[in-house]
Amino acid sequence: MSKATASLLVQGYEVVIGFETHTQLTTNSKIFSRASTAFGAEPNTQASAVDFALPGALPVMNKGAVQRAIEFGLAVNAHIAESSVFARKNYFYPDLPKGYQISQFEIPVVQGGVVEFFLGDEKKSVRLVRAHLEEDAGKSLHEDFIGQSGIDLNRAGTPLLEIVTEPDMRSSAEAVAYAKELHKIVTWIGICDGNMQEGSFRCDANVSVRKPGEPLGTRREIKNLNSFKFMQQAIDFEVRWQIEQIEDGHAIQQATVLFDPDTGETRSMRSKEDAADYRYFPDPDLPPLVIGRDWVEKTRSEMSELPRVMAARFIADYALNEYDAGQLTQSKATAAYFEAVAGASGQAKLASNWVMGELSRRLNAEEKSIEASTVSPAQLAQLIKRIADGTISNNAARQVFEAMWSGEGRDVDAVIEAKGLKQMSDSGELEKIIDEVLAANAKNALEVKAGNAKAFNALVGQAMKATKGKANPAQVNELLKKKLA
Ligand code: ADP
Ligand code: MG
Repeated sequence: MSKATASLLVQGYEVVIGFETHTQLTTNSKIFSRASTAFGAEPNTQASAVDFALPGALPVMNKGAVQRAIEFGLAVNAHIAESSVFARKNYFYPDLPKGYQISQFEIPVVQGGVVEFFLGDEKKSVRLVRAHLEEDAGKSLHEDFIGQSGIDLNRAGTPLLEIVTEPDMRSSAEAVAYAKELHKIVTWIGICDGNMQEGSFRCDANVSVRKPGEPLGTRREIKNLNSFKFMQQAIDFEVRWQIEQIEDGHAIQQATVLFDPDTGETRSMRSKEDAADYRYFPDPDLPPLVIGRDWVEKTRSEMSELPRVMAARFIADYALNEYDAGQLTQSKATAAYFEAVAGASGQAKLASNWVMGELSRRLNAEEKSIEASTVSPAQLAQLIKRIADGTISNNAARQVFEAMWSGEGRDVDAVIEAKGLKQMSDSGELEKIIDEVLAANAKNALEVKAGNAKAFNALVGQAMKATKGKANPAQVNELLKKKLA
């Protein structure tokens, strides 16, 4: 076992996590009917005969859902099955009037694939087992004030792509990083709106623990995690709970659990069903889903540049490191902003630093998306040009940025002028000031000559102060060294 893995142990246990994620696809109509998938309508106004499971109503496959499954498969380098099969997953629940959910079992449309991402600056990759198409169920609405429950079938038949990983993750942090990467991919290619509050991206985390080198432990599945924060909390709680159980001499029972954000705890919902309990069998109402190579290749040729491909291009074209390139391709909007700044300024590294640094900080603090940035790419590019050509220091640049951000000024050069932030470029003038500083700090000067580095820094500080921060620190250093040599 590598050192990196060893350091991840929790109280001597290795954590093992696999994910099943339900992504709601962005089709306008349902997977097997023409009813709308729009969120938030009055109960049962968006359900057709198929969704109500009226006798004799037959499902018809929505091509748009298949299209999106193909796009996902290509985005994660998976195999797209030429022929896949829909199956009935049988169970009883009031929000499932058919008595079965149409899903895919033995032959899913997307097979294999891999999701790559960074955890800190460590590169991780999580293998996918499969991604299959299925329909969502309806919802039970509990109207406590009249003591009754109702069924809303608006959500029934909403197309889902369920994406299943191998048990490759080894910490809650890695699981969250995976989920964020997956979220990025599906929203980037536009197959899912990614709205977690509305349930468009729901994760089930399968968690187990084991002593290093032992076979996989028994897992418990935390259902329906719909925020990255809860995901981390739920897994951390679950890991602690399982270790405690094992340490107390109890075996873990396979179970499905729910996370309660109010208590921060997971609790068992039901003991886990096995596949056999669902009596899967091919749905006789639906023919096999046949996807020709032409369809796959046409889709491949029409897909926009994927985040990991774009990141590789940023590394090659702009000489960025892998981590920076990954950060800048967090979203299409971030990447476009960066490219605009890098292009207009001709300073890719500075552009990368400013987009991920000052700009991100401000956007995060105000919970704004980059599309809503008050500083435009053109403005930031101009600011960067003025740093690169030595007109202003980094410190002064932050003041200019601040002024533009708050709307105090719009034009970079005008703000620099108005605030008097121009660096001193006249070395004669600077030399005069340095002579004055040396005269006023004769004792320091002597100490520098005696080899005291602190005294030198104090002199640099004095000189910067005397120029009101407008001197170029590198130039001050150089001049002082020359004079004290
Ligand atoms: P099922 O279909 O019954 O839920 P699967 O074998 O398909 O079971 O696994 C579902 C998920 O659980 C997958 O993401 C898989 O990686 C994960 N998983 C399987 N075994 C373990 C384990 N021992 N610990 C953690 N995760 C696991
Ligand atoms: Mg499962």
